[in-house]
Amino acid sequence: MNKKTVDDIQVKGKKVLVRCDFNVPIQDGVITDETRIVGALPTIKKLVDEGAKVILCSHMGKPKGEAVPSLSLAPVAKKLSEHLGKEVVFAADANVVGENAKAAVAAMNEGDVVLLENTRYRAEETKNVDTFSEELASLAEIFVNDAFGTAHRAHCSNVGVTKYIKDAVGGYLINKEIEYLGNAVNNPVRPLVAILGGSKVSSKISVINNLLEKVDKLIIGGGMAYTFMKANGLSVGNSLLEEDYIDYAKEMMAKAEEKGVKLYVPVDTVAAQEFNNDAETKVFENGIEDGWEGLDIGPKTTEIFKDALKDAKTVVWNGPMGVFEMPNFAKGTNAIAYALADLDATTIIGGGDSVAAVNQAGLGDKMSHISTGGGASLEFLEGKDLPGIVALNDK
Ligand code: ADP
Ligand code: MG
Repeated sequence: MNKKTVDDIQVKGKKVLVRCDFNVPIQDGVITDETRIVGALPTIKKLVDEGAKVILCSHMGKPKGEAVPSLSLAPVAKKLSEHLGKEVVFAADANVVGENAKAAVAAMNEGDVVLLENTRYRAEETKNVDTFSEELASLAEIFVNDAFGTAHRAHCSNVGVTKYIKDAVGGYLINKEIEYLGNAVNNPVRPLVAILGGSKVSSKISVINNLLEKVDKLIIGGGMAYTFMKANGLSVGNSLLEEDYIDYAKEMMAKAEEKGVKLYVPVDTVAAQEFNNDAETKVFENGIEDGWEGLDIGPKTTEIFKDALKDAKTVVWNGPMGVFEMPNFAKGTNAIAYALADLDATTIIGGGDSVAAVNQAGLGDKMSHISTGGGASLEFLEGKDLPGIVALNDK
């Protein structure tokens, strides 16, 4: 994807509206995870250093068009000020682009930073209604989108605004996502291996279908594997099963064969009779007994999957191999995470729970790229165009 970036524009003295992802977790007014704030700093610093007037905006949570005080971005302004070592002026307007915002922007000097209030305080935001897009756009001359997490949605602050601001480019965070996910899917160094897991086939149906067009190997684990096992005629006991998708699983196995893609499904399963970390476990091969529920891939499967990964040069992983939230059923997921960490390959982790699993294993910094947008990265892997990226100017 050939989109213009912040490195392609002149910003000195210009008012630049930057759509960030400051949707951080807050408890009692305290930000409990600053990852997204820290992630936004490179783009902001670059614009500040070059003498732009930097106007930041973001959504937080789902206030649904109401000025919900607990979802104010005020704490983010404070935290940003600390990280930047300079004051970030917070424009506290219930309607986002109000008198405070206009006055704060009018008073800006080169290198100053203003943060607007939660864009979802306005009901128009998620409906991409022109009125609010135009108001936002009226504040600035250049638009930078650095929020990958919302790139799969067409909202005022990431898409609508580009109708009124001609210069629209990507920030460093979004560019990294485009580069890694884009290359992995469209221009990968091969062999390209995808690992798909998580709870449901239905939620990743289009990803499986699209990736079968691209990958050399496809590994399927997690809860979605049982629908494939069932499609192979095996019993799955009480495991997660989507009866309606058994035929689809058969179709995908046939497609893999036709495309020459090696498809791996588990050959053994760690199961329990209760959904409980301390439950007694049993490993099943060739089908799971009645009364038992598969909660992780088994040891033989783990070895087969690791072996399949050995020659990989690009790996995309979306969805854990088991119920990793319970340590006794996190072994398969952890083994795959360690295998990826050891590979001499580009490794890309997408999906909120997969990212959590990799971080839980303490291996986040061993991966080439950890996607910041669960839903957005999934749609990217489905082969869909993301409106927030399409809206940016081509090079
Ligand atoms: P991601 O967020 O990475 O895209 P998903 O949301 O699709 O992943 O799936 C993650 C969930 O899948 C986790 O909560 C995990 O517990 C669940 N899961 C994985 N394997 C199983 C299984 N065998 N049985 C039930 N749930 C599972
Ligand atoms: Mg998830």
